[in-house]
Amino acid sequence: MAKQYETVIGLEVHVELATKTKIFCGCSTAFGGEPNTHTCPVCTGMPGSLPVLNKQVLEYAVAVGLATNCTITQYCKFDRKNYFYPDNPQNYQISQLYLPICQNGRVEIETENGKKYVGIHEIHMEEDAGKLIHDEWDDCSLVDYNRSGVPLIEIVSEPDMRSAEEVIAYLEKLRMTIQYLGASDCKLQEGSMRADVNLSIREVGAEAFGTRTEMKNLNSFKAIARAIEGERERQIDLLEAGEKVIQETRRWDDNKGESYAMRSKEDAQDYRYFPDPDLVPIMLDDAFLDQIRAKQPEFREEKMLRYKKEFDIPEYDIQIITGSKHMADIFEQTVALGSQPKKVSNWLMVETLRLLKENNMDPEDIRFSPENLAKLISLTDAKAINSSVAKEVFEVMFDQNIDPEKYVEEKGLKTVNDEGALRKTVEEVIANNPQSVEDYRNGKEKAIGFLVGQTMKAMKGKADPGMINKLLKELL
Ligand SMILES: [Zn+2]
Repeated sequence: MAKQYETVIGLEVHVELATKTKIFCGCSTAFGGEPNTHTCPVCTGMPGSLPVLNKQVLEYAVAVGLATNCTITQYCKFDRKNYFYPDNPQNYQISQLYLPICQNGRVEIETENGKKYVGIHEIHMEEDAGKLIHDEWDDCSLVDYNRSGVPLIEIVSEPDMRSAEEVIAYLEKLRMTIQYLGASDCKLQEGSMRADVNLSIREVGAEAFGTRTEMKNLNSFKAIARAIEGERERQIDLLEAGEKVIQETRRWDDNKGESYAMRSKEDAQDYRYFPDPDLVPIMLDDAFLDQIRAKQPEFREEKMLRYKKEFDIPEYDIQIITGSKHMADIFEQTVALGSQPKKVSNWLMVETLRLLKENNMDPEDIRFSPENLAKLISLTDAKAINSSVAKEVFEVMFDQNIDPEKYVEEKGLKTVNDEGALRKTVEEVIANNPQSVEDYRNGKEKAIGFLVGQTMKAMKGKADPGMINKLLKELL
């Protein structure tokens, strides 16, 4: 009988924190910008420069730790991780090895197989490296230190996951929690959330772990799922052929659907870690922790329960809307401005989701304001515009956050509610379409649809189809 294998997966997730300035200096963390313009002696590793910890980094790290049920290390330190690489000007990275800020946490995930906990071994604070740009035309490599010193937290899980599905559920859970905290936007594609996958296999029932490999370069949930499948297969093939899995770091090439070895995996001792003598130990008192605890937001689970009680909208809508903190904020603020919850939810669930998908955007990228959505809803409630005009206006609003009231006024899109004018147009349409009129009178109900269409066309879309229908029936 063929052997049965179990996949054992642990993740190292790096998250860029949403601070305005870097972790140890006052340089901007803004994405983009001319190369080497967000730099100073500290983040370019000049001799004699001294790092000073950004307090906001500490607050975010503690907030994430509390939200993931970690124990906060109230006496913690920074360590130097020594290695040479051109994007790392100090020749060491300031990180935490011995006393990471958060330890022993766990988060609950849910998959088709039910709920389970994934343990969090630790969360530590560290600085990001610069970026190398390999210029193939000039056959040289350039380095940009704008990212050097951008604050990161690294969330190290226990090897508790057994499938790609569990890994995705875990990442979704982390992303949601951190977004709700406002600690990061967690965009995989832009690199503000990056996951390295540690994977090994063992025979079902075995106690000991197999040799693991680490996979890097995973920038979407789909790539992560494919990489896990690919690496599992590769390791099984090796074992079945009587060969050994080598502990190494591998790069996943999502286009080719295969991974290749980058380097043998280092252990902590290879980096000659030692406490950073430039940074004093951090002492966190209970009052500081209480302060952060008091500022924790309403997380998704609580929000879902509250929505169920407060708003008469379907369960499915609640799930989608609370799936993004930004979307949930828009929903709540629009409702607070007086719009009916179901109507707000409809705009988010139908048109918003459609446009996000078409433009390949995340819910976090929604630009229109709750004020403008509320205005659009009251325009349709007042029958000042019909539903097809409303959709048109919404598209412009989605794109440019225009004020729908002004836009409708300027473009002359208001529905003509003057019954006299509408009746006149309907009469003309009846006069010009004798065939359809006859069809309708002979019992072809559908013919009226054509006449409604013709009237709408004559009114340049600015009429209420219900009213046209009523007038047509009256006049026929
Ligand atoms: Zn700097």
